[in-house]
Amino acid sequence: MIRVRFAPSPTGNLHIGGARTALFNWIYAKAKGGEFILRIEDTDAARSQKEYLDEILFSLKWLGFEWDELYYQSQRFDIYRKYAEQLLKEGKAYLEKTEGRGEAVIFKVTPRKIKVNDLIRGEIEFDAEAIKDQVLIKSDGTPTYNFACVVDDAQTQITHVIRGDDHISNTPKQIMLYEALGFNLPCFAHLPLILSKEGGRLSKRKGATAISDYHTMGYLPQALVNYLLLLGWSPGGNREVIEINEATKIFDIKNINKTAAVLDLDKLDWMNNQYLKKEDPEKLADELIPALVEKGYIEKDKLDRGYLVSLIKIFQGRLTVLNDFIDWADFFFLKEIKIDPAAEEKFLKRDFSREFRMFINRMEALDKFDVATIETAFREMVKELGIEAKVLIHPIRVVLTGKTIGPGLFELIYYLGRQRTKERLEKWIK
Ligand code: GLU
Repeated sequence: MIRVRFAPSPTGNLHIGGARTALFNWIYAKAKGGEFILRIEDTDAARSQKEYLDEILFSLKWLGFEWDELYYQSQRFDIYRKYAEQLLKEGKAYLEKTEGRGEAVIFKVTPRKIKVNDLIRGEIEFDAEAIKDQVLIKSDGTPTYNFACVVDDAQTQITHVIRGDDHISNTPKQIMLYEALGFNLPCFAHLPLILSKEGGRLSKRKGATAISDYHTMGYLPQALVNYLLLLGWSPGGNREVIEINEATKIFDIKNINKTAAVLDLDKLDWMNNQYLKKEDPEKLADELIPALVEKGYIEKDKLDRGYLVSLIKIFQGRLTVLNDFIDWADFFFLKEIKIDPAAEEKFLKRDFSREFRMFINRMEALDKFDVATIETAFREMVKELGIEAKVLIHPIRVVLTGKTIGPGLFELIYYLGRQRTKERLEKWIK
């Protein structure tokens, strides 16, 4: 049975890099019918925080990476102590007294060369000559990362350690511990680095956004997961959009790239739009309702859900993030809209009273008020006036929505309704 683990420290939020590590562990387990274990590396009580833990757990669930087992290192200190005692008894470790504090347990390193057959990188040789004796248990009684990691991976029968490239230098140290403790070695796979678009490592500013913030901003989890997959793996050909279930069927750890991945947030936006386009608008409505209520745009008990879903449908294809809807469709919910000054400057400089009045009259005279009849009436009118449609389309749009971009004019007039269309145009005439 394949058993993999994701082992975050709750000393910060889950970021893109961690989420990608979680994804590759999770998908490998799914692909092989194995198990995905979550281990919280919270040995550092001072730096570990509940809010980070909550954020990590929320984000993993949101992305769909449910775990089969969950361990907290802070609850396993007795186990680490037991194995440290074993190494002491066997003469493989020694005690070191620190003034005023307890005793640290130190591992005696025997210098030699260590080879690792990494599943992604191939064979790597380490010169353990350079590795000094290692602290296993600190004088305050807490285990070090390398020691707790090895004990836990062995004790929870992890078969594959899949983690970021930044842990490569820990691997030989861990191998020495496996051997000293008489544990079987797992397979190792180190995922390529993720660089920023400008080159260089991801900085706090660029790309170091908490995964839960992507949720808040209105990214869809399926889109983010698909994007994360591309940070080191590709479904083949030029294909980029692939749902996780399909990816699971063809995923192979051997096909993970050796070269660094590049974080391209524009690509993530593009991906999100791909998924927003095809998402069920009812689901998008569920996601949007709390935010729209909070904004005061809709009232929970007076909600016309069918209407909201229709509005979502006309915007859906253009959204980068779901929250764009809240900004772009605001004019459907606001009593008083704000007109963008630049749009006003560009399209409403001259007096359109006569044309607007004419348009209001035409709208009022319609027997049937639907997108097609609105459009026909408008086209006939501009023909009579001997002007191009765009001469009026932009000014009307700006007056009705406050903006220069948005869905088709006739569609938006239909959903805005005759009354509000009239009111807004009249207000402008005055
Ligand atoms: N807590 C470590 C980290 O977050 C885990 C590394 C590992 O997977 O061994 O980087």
